[in-house]
Amino acid sequence: MIKKFIRRILGSKTKAIDHTKATELTPKEHGIDPKLVSSNAIRVTQTLQEAGFKAFLVGGAVRDLLLGIKPKDFDIATNATPEQVKKLFRRAFIIGRRFQIVHVMFGQDLLEVTTFRGASTEAAPKDEHGRVLRDNTFGEQHEDAVRRDFTINAMYYDPATQVVLDYHCGMADIRNKTLRIIGVPEARFREDPVRLLRVVRFAAKLGFTIHPETAAPIKVMAPLINNVPAARVFDEMIKLLMSGQALACLQQLRKEGLHHGLLPLLDVVLEQPLGEKFVRLALASTDARVKQGKPVSPGFLFAALLWHQVLEKWSAYQAAGEMPIPALHLAADDVLNSQTEQLALQRKIASDMRDIWAMQPRFERRTGKAPYKLLENLRLRAGYDFLLLRCASGEIDAELGEWWTAFMEGDAGERETLMTQKPRAVDGAPKRAKRRGGRGRARPDEGGGAAE
Ligand code: ATP
Ligand code: MG
Repeated sequence: MIKKFIRRILGSKTKAIDHTKATELTPKEHGIDPKLVSSNAIRVTQTLQEAGFKAFLVGGAVRDLLLGIKPKDFDIATNATPEQVKKLFRRAFIIGRRFQIVHVMFGQDLLEVTTFRGASTEAAPKDEHGRVLRDNTFGEQHEDAVRRDFTINAMYYDPATQVVLDYHCGMADIRNKTLRIIGVPEARFREDPVRLLRVVRFAAKLGFTIHPETAAPIKVMAPLINNVPAARVFDEMIKLLMSGQALACLQQLRKEGLHHGLLPLLDVVLEQPLGEKFVRLALASTDARVKQGKPVSPGFLFAALLWHQVLEKWSAYQAAGEMPIPALHLAADDVLNSQTEQLALQRKIASDMRDIWAMQPRFERRTGKAPYKLLENLRLRAGYDFLLLRCASGEIDAELGEWWTAFMEGDAGERETLMTQKPRAVDGAPKRAKRRGGRGRARPDEGGGAAE
C-alpha cells in the first residue's frame, strides 16, 4: 500500500522493481529450445561451473534464443576473473587492456567470456560531452545487468538448469516487442552514444518498437555520435549494414536524424532521386544476400553507398579539364578522404572500393583486347554486380549490363559476335541513359551540351 502510494507520488517513471533481484524464468515460461544452443557454448559454461564459478549465456544470444532465432555467436558472463577463465581452457586469450575479456577458441568457433562488470561510478573519467572513457571494475551479476544497454539484452541463461535470470523485465519487453534502454535514457546515451545506433539497428533488425521514453531523446542526442572514436562507429555500422535489414536500418537512421554524423556524404546522395534509388537497390540486394546466407563484402557496400558522390566529383574534375580516368581516381581520393574522419574505413575496404569504382569506365570499352583483359580481373564479379546496379537504377543504359552478361556467359564465338555489335548509342559511344538529378553537366569526352 505504502509502496503504491510512493509510486503514485513519484510518477510513472519509478517502477517498484528491485533490480538487484532477478526473476527466474523456467523453460515453460521462456520457451527456449536447448537445441539452438551451440555445444561449444555449453562446454564453456559447464567447465566454468565445474570449477565452482557462475556462468551464463548472456546478451544477444539469450535475446535471440527467446525469439526462437539461432544465435550467430554466444557471449558468456561469469564471476571468474579473466586469469581464472584462461587457466580452464587450452586455447584461451585475454584481450583488451582496459576491460579484459577472454576469447575461448574451439576450432574456428570463438566464444567471448566476460567477467561481471561492477556498478558504474560517478568518478569514472569522461570526455567533455559526458562520454565515459574508462570504467572497468568487476562486480556482481545484478551490477553487470544494469550496465547492459537494453532490457532484452540483459538476461542470463544457464544451459545446465535451463533457467533464465531476468533483472529488468526483459521477457515482458520481448513479448511486447519493445526496445527499452535500462536506466535514464539521456544518461545512458550520453555515457555511450553508440547506443543510439544500436537502438536503431535492433529496432529494424527485430521489428521492435522503441519505447517512447527511450526514443524521445534520440533526435537531440544524435550529434553525440560525432565524438565517438571512428573505429567504434565503423564496427557498429558494419553490424548494421550486414544485419540483413540494412535498408530498414538506414531508413530508421534517417528518420532519427542519425545518418548525418555517419556517412556525411551519404546525406547528399540520398537527397538526389537517382542516388537514393541506387542506394536503395544496393541495400536491398545486400539484404537478400545476407538472408540467403551468401557472403557480403563491406567494400562493395561502401562503394555503393558513396558512388553517387564519386560520380558528382568525377564530373567536376572532368569539367575542370582532367581526363576521365585520372579524374575518377581524384574523385575516389576525395570521397575516401572526406569519409575517414567519421568512419575509419579500413585500408582493405577502401582498396576494394577503389577497385570497384575504377573498373566502371572499363566496362564501357567493348572492342579490341579490353573486354578480354577485364575478364581476367579478379574483382570482375564485384565490378559487374556494381555495373548491374547502375543499370537497374537508371544511371546508365541497361544495354551495357546486358552486353556484359552475354559476354561473360558466352563461348568464344558468341563473344566475337558481341564484339562486332554496335552499341545502341549514337556514334558507338557508350550512352549515359540520363543525367543525374539537376546537374545537367555534360562530360567533356561526350562533346558537351547534352540536354537533361
Ligand atoms: P548482435 O546480435 O548484433 O551480436 P548483441 O546484443 O549480442 O547483438 P554485441 O555487440 O555482441 O550485441 O554485445 C553483446 C552484449 O553486450 C549486448 O547484448 C549487451 O548486453 C552488451 N553491450 C554491447 N554493447 C553495449 C553498449 N554499448 N552498452 C551497454 N551494453 C552493451
Ligand atoms: Mg553478440
